[in-house]
Amino acid sequence: MSIPLRAPRRLVVASNNPGKLREFETLLRPLGIEVSAQAELGVGEAAEPYGTFIENALTKARHACRETGLAALADDSGLCVDALDGAPGVLSARYAGDAKSDLQNNQKLVTALRDVADRRAHYYCVLVLLRAADDPVPLIAEGRWDGEVILEPRGGGGFGYDPHFFLPDAGCTAAELGALQKNQLSHRARALRALLARLSAS
Ligand code: IMP
Repeated sequence: MSIPLRAPRRLVVASNNPGKLREFETLLRPLGIEVSAQAELGVGEAAEPYGTFIENALTKARHACRETGLAALADDSGLCVDALDGAPGVLSARYAGDAKSDLQNNQKLVTALRDVADRRAHYYCVLVLLRAADDPVPLIAEGRWDGEVILEPRGGGGFGYDPHFFLPDAGCTAAELGALQKNQLSHRARALRALLARLSAS
């Protein structure tokens, strides 16, 4: 069976992060797409065992599709530091262990980069939209946000690595940006815009 390349009218978001859910809903509703969180539909979190963002996002989307019978949107994201060969990468949430502590993750990052001069890094986000669990043609969109890691934290906004993620163009860290500004510049915002462009065109 071939699956039509047009936007679904309803989809499940394979995430339990309230901030992301709000963001997705705000952007997708104007396109006439009704959005439900996977938890609302009784779907538990899928494992994310893979070494690439795309594999993890695809797995999460497929799990949500299979459980609900709806189209599903999943994302996977993290911080990649050039001098650390892309680490923490897919392990960003649990870089310092399963406690998923932002503070401990940041401490580990600062320790790893203390004697490194070139601390260029980027946030990366991939989004996957599957129309069915066996959809052979997923819609995939990526977003990248370049910056550099600073050793002293700055700012109280955002989450995760934001107080250490410095943006040379803006002259501040991601944690010093307002939520609105971050939502225009971030890797997730860029990926969402790319996905929306593809959806509007399909
Ligand atoms: P996920 O996309 O929720 O799986 O995020 C994975 C991890 O990457 C988060 O727990 C953070 O550690 C990091 N991360 C992803 N996006 C951001 C961001 O916008 N700011 C700070 N950290 C982020």
